[in-house]
Amino acid sequence: MLSMLWEFFDDPATIESRLLGKLLKESPELPDWSSAVQPVLTRLLASNQIQRPMVSRVLGMKEFNALALPHTTIVLAESLVEFCRHERDQLAFVLAHEAAHIHLGHAKERSRANALATLLRVNPLLGIGLKFFFDRAFSREQEFEADRTAATLCANAGYAPQAGAAFLRRLGIFASSTGCVMQFLSTHPPLQERIMQLQQTK
Ligand SMILES: [Zn+2]
Repeated sequence: MLSMLWEFFDDPATIESRLLGKLLKESPELPDWSSAVQPVLTRLLASNQIQRPMVSRVLGMKEFNALALPHTTIVLAESLVEFCRHERDQLAFVLAHEAAHIHLGHAKERSRANALATLLRVNPLLGIGLKFFFDRAFSREQEFEADRTAATLCANAGYAPQAGAAFLRRLGIFASSTGCVMQFLSTHPPLQERIMQLQQTK
């Protein structure tokens, strides 16, 4: 109970370091991969005058996933980076989408909402905690906002603006051939809707 209270009152940096610690314990980092991805993120931030120094970390997670932690860290599953290995602009879109969740304050809001919900639903038997945090989706509007912002961030950094829709289309095809993407998809609005919204941007 006490640790949950701390979670509620802690600042995003503290919550983030605790979450990251748990993630790293389950899935070790691939440092070479993290270093390979970081320049794309750095270019996105620099080209858009975003001062917050964000860091991308690639973990050997089983699930295909990308996560925005509440402070400055973006976690990518190895499988997702592999999926974008020859599609740098699509990787840029994924990073830009997660960076948008952090930049727009969505990730911080979610961690607060999560802490509050945890307090209200205190039951240690439910095993709430890390899983609960990540199962908690951003709102539909936040997802669309992150997509739109990502398209702008990418365009300003010289990455192909259509890469977002291309990534989502490719993801749809990939998802129909494998089940491991389902968790990732279940936390976001349907791909078709996201693609349509993206195509209406600008
Ligand atoms: Zn999202």
